[in-house]
Amino acid sequence: ANRAFSDLASSLVAGTATVLTLGALAIGRLDHAGHGTSKRVGMVVAMIGVPMFGYGWAIAHWAQNGEVPWLQAMAVLVSVGLSATIIQSGRLLGLLCGQVAMWSAITCAISPLGGLLAIVIGGALGTIAYQRQLEIDLAESMRLQEAARQQMRAQEILADYEETGQGWFWETDRRGMILYVSAAVAELLRRTPEELQGRPLTDLFQIEDKAEAGPSESGADRTLTFHLTARSSFSDLVVRAAIKGEERWWAITGRPIYDTFDNFQGFRGSGADLTQQKRTQEHVSRLAHFDSLTGLSNRFFMSQSLEKILIAPQVRQRACAVLLIDLDRFKQVNDTLGHPAGDQLLKQVAQRLERGVGSAGRVGRLGGDEFQIILPGRIERPMLAQIASHIIESLSQSYTLDGSRVMIGASVGIAIAPDDGVTSEALIRNADLALYAAKDGGRGRFHFYAPDLHSDAEERRKLEEDLRDALAHGQLELYYQPVVQTTTERITGFEALLRWHHPEHGFISPEKFIPIAEEAGLIAQIGEWALRQACMDLARWPGNVRVAVNVSALQFANPALPGIVTSALASAGVNPERLELEITESVFINDDDGNEAMFRALKRIGVRLALDDFGTGYSSLGYLKKAPFDKIKIDQSFVRGATQDGSRNGAIIASIVSLAEALDMETTAEGVETLDELDLVRLLGCSHVQGYIYERPLSALAAADRLSSGLVAIARGPRAARAMRQSILRRVVLEHGGQTYEANVRNISRTGALVEGIRNVPGGTVFRIHVADEQVVTATARWCEDDRIGVEFSEPLELDETGRIAIMSPRRQRPAPVLPTGVTIEAPRRRA
Ligand code: C2E
Ligand code: CA
Ligand code: CA
Repeated sequence: ANRAFSDLASSLVAGTATVLTLGALAIGRLDHAGHGTSKRVGMVVAMIGVPMFGYGWAIAHWAQNGEVPWLQAMAVLVSVGLSATIIQSGRLLGLLCGQVAMWSAITCAISPLGGLLAIVIGGALGTIAYQRQLEIDLAESMRLQEAARQQMRAQEILADYEETGQGWFWETDRRGMILYVSAAVAELLRRTPEELQGRPLTDLFQIEDKAEAGPSESGADRTLTFHLTARSSFSDLVVRAAIKGEERWWAITGRPIYDTFDNFQGFRGSGADLTQQKRTQEHVSRLAHFDSLTGLSNRFFMSQSLEKILIAPQVRQRACAVLLIDLDRFKQVNDTLGHPAGDQLLKQVAQRLERGVGSAGRVGRLGGDEFQIILPGRIERPMLAQIASHIIESLSQSYTLDGSRVMIGASVGIAIAPDDGVTSEALIRNADLALYAAKDGGRGRFHFYAPDLHSDAEERRKLEEDLRDALAHGQLELYYQPVVQTTTERITGFEALLRWHHPEHGFISPEKFIPIAEEAGLIAQIGEWALRQACMDLARWPGNVRVAVNVSALQFANPALPGIVTSALASAGVNPERLELEITESVFINDDDGNEAMFRALKRIGVRLALDDFGTGYSSLGYLKKAPFDKIKIDQSFVRGATQDGSRNGAIIASIVSLAEALDMETTAEGVETLDELDLVRLLGCSHVQGYIYERPLSALAAADRLSSGLVAIARGPRAARAMRQSILRRVVLEHGGQTYEANVRNISRTGALVEGIRNVPGGTVFRIHVADEQVVTATARWCEDDRIGVEFSEPLELDETGRIAIMSPRRQRPAPVLPTGVTIEAPRRRA
């Protein structure tokens, strides 16, 4: 019974052990689950030690009872131990625990003491193993944690980086289809990352849009496709993101990835946002190429463009025209209205130029108020002339700046490649010379380059140089022209007129040197000298005689003027009432506060103010009411020809007079030369007359002498302006660019003539006309039709005693043939 019980117990123990063993398999899993070491040891003992002990015990009992032969029992135990070892492979504790438990169970079955000993030894070994396991586990868990931390850190850093939008990552499969792309990029493309997956990588970029991209960008696109096909690494390829309506640039980098068997798996790489950098670059290049105020090309870019044309591979493509444009009176706007208004004006000028030129050429601003236009291709001169006059016309329309209406003018110089130069320096220098000639010709004009301009420019430069010393060398002098009251025929005053006695060139007209003085910044000095000198001379004249001094618009804009006037009056000791300042209309190009303040300051001093050259400038009758003028000077261009039938000048004079009377102002008719003109202006009611009919300008000495004989003035001169336009036929020689041409002169007036017999003369051409031996006049072509050209003389011709044009009345003059006089040449209007 004891043996039967023992067998039963053995079977039970073995069965339980089997159940536990199955459970032990779970230990492996539990082990992985990462429990604490002590907990694990407990589990190992319970799940491995106990069943193994059971197996050992049961089998030992079966063997002892003779149920199983010991040899077989041993074999079973060995295989159980082996299975346990396999199951527990790699797990030291489990292994040890299983082996110790099983063998100590056998020992137990044979001798309880030996078994106990085995358990103790096993326990000791187990404790050592436990300690060891503890260390191993600790080290392992630390390693795992560290690895996990590292992985986390890398992930977080990447995620942060992706989130900033500066950089992003991508991966493709072997066909180049997207496997992964950063969410930020998907968002930029207004897609989800999932939508992008499976699409070609190149879909992220704008590749088809080659026209818009520069050459380098489309190149980058091609390179990308190439790398993807060739499976080669690339870095920092610049591509444009495929985002409609937004410009975004990326630099992308990528490398092919291979698996362990060296099979190509696809590409992996990153992208970085370049937009800001690119914008900065563009901004820098804009700054380098464009004028920041007007947005036009700058000087550098213009000369680059010109150079490009001039070195074109085919000679035919090297033709072009360069137009230099300079604004007239811009400085006045800038000085009186302020720089912001000046800037505003430049912008509007730029717009008009661009609109005018369109795609036919390139417009640039060279700086200040200087503009340039390059027109590529061969354009005939008449066409260029038309373009130039178009530009002048468009720029001369009024501008609105901060509510004020402003008028300026423009002068244009034209040089043509290859005729006038084949290098950009030569072309620009020659266009500049032409521009100078245009300005010299009276502004608001255009001029083609001609070789003889070189000497003109040299002459002008020299004049400017000489003018700097003219004052110091006592070459400037004031002449005085009497102003006569119409009703009493008595001299009421004199107008002071500058004269320059040049040591070489002799006498130079103020019409010529005053603009030079204004441009060279000499007018303030010269103007102040004139004021002081006039006051000093005035101090020696009778008290009822006045002096009128011309004041340039530049002087008028200078706040120091009232101080200078006061000082000039005080040092000469004359009554302010006796000084009259002549101001031209050009000061009214704007109606700002500075003007009003200046008028008030001058009126406070007590000087008289006269409006000079009325009707030649920006006639706005509005300002006449506001400005405190004592006198209006009617320009001689209205007086001239007023006596001729059909002329409207008389009507104009009449209306100016009635306006002046209404405003309680005097009127002076300027430049009255004939008795007929005198009768007319008297009839029209002008209160004063100034002109050769009474007296030419006199030197200070002659003026004093004239005064000593009393104030009564007597009109002396021709009755009629009979020879205002003389119809004559005269053979002359024209000289231009070192060549001479024969031609006929018909219809000559004081200001111009009709020349017959020459063809194809571009407007603006300047030549010298040899009218007679030793008699040469400089003239500018204004129009050309068939073989006839209209020319304008650079200076009006003198009249002789009989009222004929002096230069045209040599001793042996042929009788004038009767010719149709359909052509009129308008008298030039002087501008300040
Ligand atoms: P303006 O003020 O209109 O002066 C009148 C001009 O007409 C003077 O020329 C005078 O000699 C001329 N003149 C007078 N009567 C007759 C005439 O019957 N027939 C003709 N054909 N001309 C006549 P001028 O002296 O050559 O002066 C020319 C211009 O130079 C002046 O025109 C004035 O604008 C300027 N100017 C002269 N002196 C000064 C000055 O001291 N300061 C400034 N800023 N400008 C001056
Ligand atoms: Ca004057
Ligand atoms: Ca005048």
